Amino acid sequence: MTSRISLKAAAKINLYLEITGSRVDGYHDLVMILQSIDLCDRVDIRKIGADEIQVLCTNPEVPCDRTNLAYKAAALMQDIYPEIGGMEIVIDKQIPMGAGLAGGSANAAAVFVGIDRLWDLGLTQSQLCDFAAQLGSDIPFCVFGGTALATGRGEVLSPLPDLTDLVLVICKPRQIEIATAWAYQTFRKQGLLATSQVKNQNLSSQIVAAIASGGDSAPNKIGRLLYNDLERVVLPEYPAIADLKNKLLDQECLGAMMSGSGSTVFAIAPDLDRAQQIAEAVRTDEIDVWVVKSLVRSIFDA
Ligand code: ATP
Repeated sequence: MTSRISLKAAAKINLYLEITGSRVDGYHDLVMILQSIDLCDRVDIRKIGADEIQVLCTNPEVPCDRTNLAYKAAALMQDIYPEIGGMEIVIDKQIPMGAGLAGGSANAAAVFVGIDRLWDLGLTQSQLCDFAAQLGSDIPFCVFGGTALATGRGEVLSPLPDLTDLVLVICKPRQIEIATAWAYQTFRKQGLLATSQVKNQNLSSQIVAAIASGGDSAPNKIGRLLYNDLERVVLPEYPAIADLKNKLLDQECLGAMMSGSGSTVFAIAPDLDRAQQIAEAVRTDEIDVWVVKSLVRSIFDA
């Protein structure tokens, strides 16, 4: 019987993030379009004799205790399936933290999928989605990946047609990490919901249509429709992120936007050559830059 599994866990970007309401449970109602990208952590899970969960991570800044989302996913599965024994989870961290790229959520998703496969649980997609949603709003998407419309607090997913070969330049200011909770709380405190910039514009339907249209012109159409409500709180507070976005827009890109609650800003490029040129134009000692393509799934064999 297999005793270990090695998985890649992909980061995501938000092509679209609209806050449409606040909820009594403290979360917000959202309309998001999420896209998996080829910037991945590697998650190795190994069965161990003892009943415990051990987490190790190559990035010393990531907590390896019970607060780690991979640990929480494993603990949740042990609660539900007591026959599951102990495991060691080793995370090779490539996805930056506090970046709006859902690195922690991707790790948790890999643990759900890995446990299902290692212990042969035969979970359905809907069971995996339910477990994932208990831990975090982005985790269901991280289990399935590809391109999806996410509503509710982000956990209600509708798959969209695959975006293959979307070329992206991903830029993360090294010194800036943003707590997602801070961004949403600030949005609420500043009453920005009442002054929505996109209400009644049907912008999300337009970008869904652009994705569905496929073909060579899709990246161009998508680039013009990118939107993120959280830019309204993050960019005024962090001028370096606003500068980075403007620098990307000054290049010949098809559109640029902050991902999630930041601090990552991404640009859509017309092709790989142009993406490399954009990357060179914005890369500094302060800004980490990756040229990546879109992925059609998020958890796969390493
Ligand atoms: P999101 O887009 O979902 O807001 P993010 O990219 O902004 O995610 P993460 O990298 O997921 O942020 O991590 C945010 C915080 O979660 C970190 O400060 C870290 O302390 C904690 N954390 C818990 N588990 C993990 C993990 N496995 N990997 C990274 N961070 C983790």
